[in-house]
Amino acid sequence: MRSGANARARHESDQGHARSAADCPSRSAKAPKLLVEQPTVPATSRRYRRRMYLIEITPTPAVSGDRNTIGGSPILAPDQTWPACRCGTRMALFFQLDIPPDVPTFGGDHLLAFQCPRHNEACFPPRERQLPPHYWDRPPPPNEMSFWRILRQRTGVPASTADPYLRPLRLTVARAEKSGGRRDGSPAFRVGGRPAWLQRPERYRCACGSDLAFLAQIPENLGFPKRPEADEQQDSFRADEYGMFLGNEIYLLACPDWCDPAAVWPVNQN
Ligand SMILES: [Zn+2]
Ligand SMILES: [Zn+2]
Repeated sequence: MRSGANARARHESDQGHARSAADCPSRSAKAPKLLVEQPTVPATSRRYRRRMYLIEITPTPAVSGDRNTIGGSPILAPDQTWPACRCGTRMALFFQLDIPPDVPTFGGDHLLAFQCPRHNEACFPPRERQLPPHYWDRPPPPNEMSFWRILRQRTGVPASTADPYLRPLRLTVARAEKSGGRRDGSPAFRVGGRPAWLQRPERYRCACGSDLAFLAQIPENLGFPKRPEADEQQDSFRADEYGMFLGNEIYLLACPDWCDPAAVWPVNQN
């Protein structure tokens, strides 16, 4: 199901209207791409030789200490605080999981994905392949502010409180043998392997000089069930679920040299 917010944002984008933080823009499928590279392997014949795991949201409630969850208590390193948006709101924990040890580069990391419960927008591609210092906190234009935070750590303990927005549910992380697609052929929620680009591949260089590497993919309009008492998310595609980045397909590209726990760039496509 397509998001009405996406459709509206696409219209505004096509009309060339100014975007504001409150407009919740989404990228147009026809938007000019500045960082264009041809895929080296056709999508239909792409082989998934790298270790890849599929992620599923289960109906089983998560408890504090669970490591693979949506919502619940984030497992943060002692020097990591619960991320807050630039607007001052503490971010919602969308998901966290242990990256299986045999995933190249990132195996053994604990991954956490947060987004402000009040800001639901897209992350737009920057003009330059080289990302600026602290791009996770001060993202390059046309992005106006950082309303997300993707973290990694290896020495965490559960926070003393649970996320108040999303239903705490366990995730399963299961080895994918072949394509990693869903039944309808679209990409699945996965960690490791290769990205299944909806548009042309995008590549970026971390502020530290390392080329960012593919870490995980979150499919379009993946719904994260909300707690009954939580407010509806602005511009979500369903009343009882939250979504990340307006429901765009999300590709998490992370620094393989770990220059910062937050050195991750969330590419959005649709
Ligand atoms: Zn915010
Ligand atoms: Zn880096």
